[in-house]
Amino acid sequence: MQLLQQKIREEGRVLSNEVLKVDSFLNHQIDPQLMQEIGLEFVRRFESKEITKIVTLESSGIAPSVMTALQLQVPVVFARKRKSLTLKDDVYVSEVYSFTKQEKNEIAMSKNYVTADDHVLIIDDFLANGEAAFGLIDLVNQAGAVISGIGIVIEKSFQPGGDRLRETGLQVEALARIASLENGEVSFL
Ligand code: 5GP
Repeated sequence: MQLLQQKIREEGRVLSNEVLKVDSFLNHQIDPQLMQEIGLEFVRRFESKEITKIVTLESSGIAPSVMTALQLQVPVVFARKRKSLTLKDDVYVSEVYSFTKQEKNEIAMSKNYVTADDHVLIIDDFLANGEAAFGLIDLVNQAGAVISGIGIVIEKSFQPGGDRLRETGLQVEALARIASLENGEVSFL
């Protein structure tokens, strides 16, 4: 997606060979026009798929998910990273190793909002090793719903998550695919 690549070139900050910071439009401040375009692009890419719900991970997955959901007129459910006061029996739980925090975290999703009748599009902001995406897949599988596809805003294709996800046979769409962050520069596939 041209517009997204341009934004990453102009405003992305390469923190290391592995980490890209995009706090000015996705991870802290949010650019609503860009999010709207991202939503439209996800809708185009998953046009052939039945989608009744979008599942994402708080907090940075929410903005692109809401813009996609608005077009599709379906609800968004965001899995939570923090333990809430809800009883354990009411939630599906999965364990995810956090790329940015370098620690294991549980993610949880209420049993009330995704059911076996749903066709779910999973959306997340970044794809690195695939841990977050596989955690979300696990939650949706526990609910017995069908997974219609995986939408990723920024894939770092030099890390293994993309290959791991595509090996499942699911449709995986990444709007920007980064080949390398070496020498402080972003190169796209
Ligand atoms: P994975 O679970 O695929 O290893 O990593 C994806 C998750 O880690 C995303 O949900 C995102 O929050 C975070 N993440 C991974 N790599 C980056 C990165 O380069 N920049 C930012 N801002 N977040 C990242």
